[in-house]
Amino acid sequence: MTFSDSQAERYSRHFVLPEVGVAGQKRLMEARVLVIGAGALGSAALLYLAAAGVGNLGVADYDRVELSNLQRQILHRSDRVGWEKVRSAKETINALNPDVTVTCHDKKITPDNILETVAPYDFVIDGTDRFASKFLVNDACVLSKKPYSHAGAVGFEGQTMTYVPGKGPCLRCLLGDGDGREELTCASAGVLGTIPGMLGCIQATEAVKYLLGIGQLLTGRLLRIDGRGMNFVTLNTGEADPDCPLCGKNPSIRSLRDRLSDYKSGGECNTCRADGGADGAALKEIPITDYPTDRGENDLLVDLRSEMLFRFGTLPGAVNFPADREEALTSLPRDKRLCLFCQTGEVSRQTAERLAKDGYRVLHLAGGYRAYLMGNLSSF
Ligand SMILES: [Zn+2]
Repeated sequence: MTFSDSQAERYSRHFVLPEVGVAGQKRLMEARVLVIGAGALGSAALLYLAAAGVGNLGVADYDRVELSNLQRQILHRSDRVGWEKVRSAKETINALNPDVTVTCHDKKITPDNILETVAPYDFVIDGTDRFASKFLVNDACVLSKKPYSHAGAVGFEGQTMTYVPGKGPCLRCLLGDGDGREELTCASAGVLGTIPGMLGCIQATEAVKYLLGIGQLLTGRLLRIDGRGMNFVTLNTGEADPDCPLCGKNPSIRSLRDRLSDYKSGGECNTCRADGGADGAALKEIPITDYPTDRGENDLLVDLRSEMLFRFGTLPGAVNFPADREEALTSLPRDKRLCLFCQTGEVSRQTAERLAKDGYRVLHLAGGYRAYLMGNLSSF
């Protein structure tokens, strides 16, 4: 393969980079990357992959462009509302770089078609926005030994990691059998557009590094971004979990047929509904956004979500007692008012009622961390 004069000029900044050079650019032009989801993450990832000259890009999406997408999905344009997203993506990519061959997968990615869809590609980027889809991408990539980049964003926060077969944990190593799945599904309700934009750029960077075999990937590490304080934290997630149901030593998931229910997002999540009233003399309930003004001196602010979500971000001063660990709850102090919250308000309401019956003084923060994020978003 030889470069034309215009290609040599286009990629000149890569040619002078020792880690890329002419040989690396050839490698990129022959590479195949699939981006699942032409939304906010996929927009940023695809634009940079196309600009970098990754020669074969697959785009999988079955949605059409909506006006509300344009706040963050920078592949699309105002005059393309109603277009298939894959068609809009192809148009933008080829306007940026005609060297790129774009394959449109204009279909819903399902357990029935995902394995054959990812098969021809060297690397997969998960740009989906539902946790059910993220499990599907993870499981398909692990089962077909395909490296992929995971990312997700909510509010001002997000996280990303890279899975490489045999080299580090998969999403199920970190989240087990779906712990926190429902919470994260609900959490896709609001997001500052630049957060998935930053994450998509990082996903494209990981893909390029993988294809060139350079640098250190986010494998065995989870990068967490907090855009509010502009803090970037890299958590060491260590080796793959030998007890992982998917990539562990004795996996219970040997085919996508084994966990079909995990891949169903079920539309509107029923835990998003408003909380009902709570009874019990020792139980009081307020909206989580009112908490800063109602805070008492003898309060213990308790985050009932999983340790992983707690590490992603929490309320200032909160301590973590995951509700699914009974031994954690039994160690809660009885001499303080327990101010409980979870992601959506559902788990915390049930836990608050139970603890109040056990004689604890409890303040339930209705709406959960999601409402807290949304409250801060609307006041921004
Ligand atoms: Zn795993």
